[in-house]
Amino acid sequence: MKKLLSVLLALCLTVSCIIPASAQEEKSCDCGSLPIIMVCGVGALPFYIDAGTENEAVYFPPEVNIGKVVFEALGAIFLSTFLWDLSILSDKVVEIAHDILGKLGCDENGLPAYNVTHTSYEKSMAHHKELYENAESAEFAIVRTAAELVGADHVYCYNCDWRVDPVDNSKKMHAFIERVLSETGHEKVKLVACSMGGLQTLTYFNEYTSDLVDTAVFLSSAHNGLLFVGNLFAGDFVLDQYDFFSWLKTFKTGKESTDKFLGKLLDRLAVTKLLVIPFRLLNRLGRALNEQAVERVLKNTLATMPGMWSFVCSDTYPAAKQLMMTEQSEQFEADADYFQQNIRAKSKEILESAEENGTKLAFVSHYDKGVVPVTSDACVHGDGLIETVCTSGGATVADYGKTLGEGYKQAKECSDHNHLSADGVIDASTCDFPDYTWFVRGVGHVGFNKDSDQHELLRWLLTSDSQQTVFDNERYPQFLQADINEMTLTPIQ
Ligand SMILES: [Zn+2]
Ligand SMILES: [Zn+2]
Repeated sequence: MKKLLSVLLALCLTVSCIIPASAQEEKSCDCGSLPIIMVCGVGALPFYIDAGTENEAVYFPPEVNIGKVVFEALGAIFLSTFLWDLSILSDKVVEIAHDILGKLGCDENGLPAYNVTHTSYEKSMAHHKELYENAESAEFAIVRTAAELVGADHVYCYNCDWRVDPVDNSKKMHAFIERVLSETGHEKVKLVACSMGGLQTLTYFNEYTSDLVDTAVFLSSAHNGLLFVGNLFAGDFVLDQYDFFSWLKTFKTGKESTDKFLGKLLDRLAVTKLLVIPFRLLNRLGRALNEQAVERVLKNTLATMPGMWSFVCSDTYPAAKQLMMTEQSEQFEADADYFQQNIRAKSKEILESAEENGTKLAFVSHYDKGVVPVTSDACVHGDGLIETVCTSGGATVADYGKTLGEGYKQAKECSDHNHLSADGVIDASTCDFPDYTWFVRGVGHVGFNKDSDQHELLRWLLTSDSQQTVFDNERYPQFLQADINEMTLTPIQ
């Protein structure tokens, strides 16, 4: 009897343990709105040094004392010239760069070398109103739109340590998605993947499939890499006068009259003959410094990070590897090779599998701005940071300030569709997904300004029950012009 009682007691205990667990597993929400996860890009949230200690401070984005940097650099230039020894200047450049970025660096295995950590938020955005309430643009302005759409308790922000291997990060992303699903009681999520977040999402699809993802909207996405990172790693360092001043036009004060004046001034400076010689000298100096300083700076900072290697495009990878992957471990190299062969070279196939799997896809790519003007590819259209050819998944884009030319014919046929922009700048037929790729002229990288029509486009993409195309909504055809003062989005005709 005693035995029977104890067995019964044990049974009761077991059942009482199981009930809450299974009740939790079965938690389901019938609100009709799937949770939305913002997959952040580089720079959306800060990195801290010595987090949790009394020395805790923001390390990235860096707070640079411009006056001190300029003073030190000028001193080094003066000494270098006076003593005819370029190594003084190159040592200074390396030292300044190391002060600003050095501790972000990784060790030979691609793991953070210092106590510098990224910010992450495990709970829903209902617990972090301060992050998005007053956000002016970019990721957190989008988070606010998402919160208005589905409720802040159904919106999450996934921010990874973008320095480390995206394949390692994909494990964390999978766990994050599973946790969001169990917390909200839904079976699938929608992703808004910004910049580096697009590359993380692509990697996640490859490592885990898109089974848990209903919709993925890629904004200013880096899933196809960045031309200038590969170029820099391969030793292509050029500062072009025209590209440099065109790129400066990317930055706006927000005051229409001032921007107009500055725009005209920069246009003039871009072609001013007086500046040809200083730029030539600067480039000669740059070339001389390249081996001594640029390589050392990159080798100590960006090139130590597997995440940065995942940006390198296939055609520059071998040269970049030869120049910049000299101190890293065999495992580092094997991981970078794995990424190149299985993800970088197969991005289209990976996304096609996601599409076949029922995941709705959309790509929003910006143009009519420059790119970081430090390599020979800086003459192309971009969003102030990334090249439009990359964020669009392979569009054919005229050089900045030019058109594809009179009589240009669409490169690929696509069910009788016209994929040429009326301004003559873009042929979208060569995109991986010509029918799901939107182009917005005149907006910067992830520049979803507060209260702008871009949020309406996003709302439409996020609330649709079926795969949307550039032909489904007359308000949002393939090519759109943004007016950043009026906050409107109008079809380019
Ligand atoms: Zn719900
Ligand atoms: Zn088409």
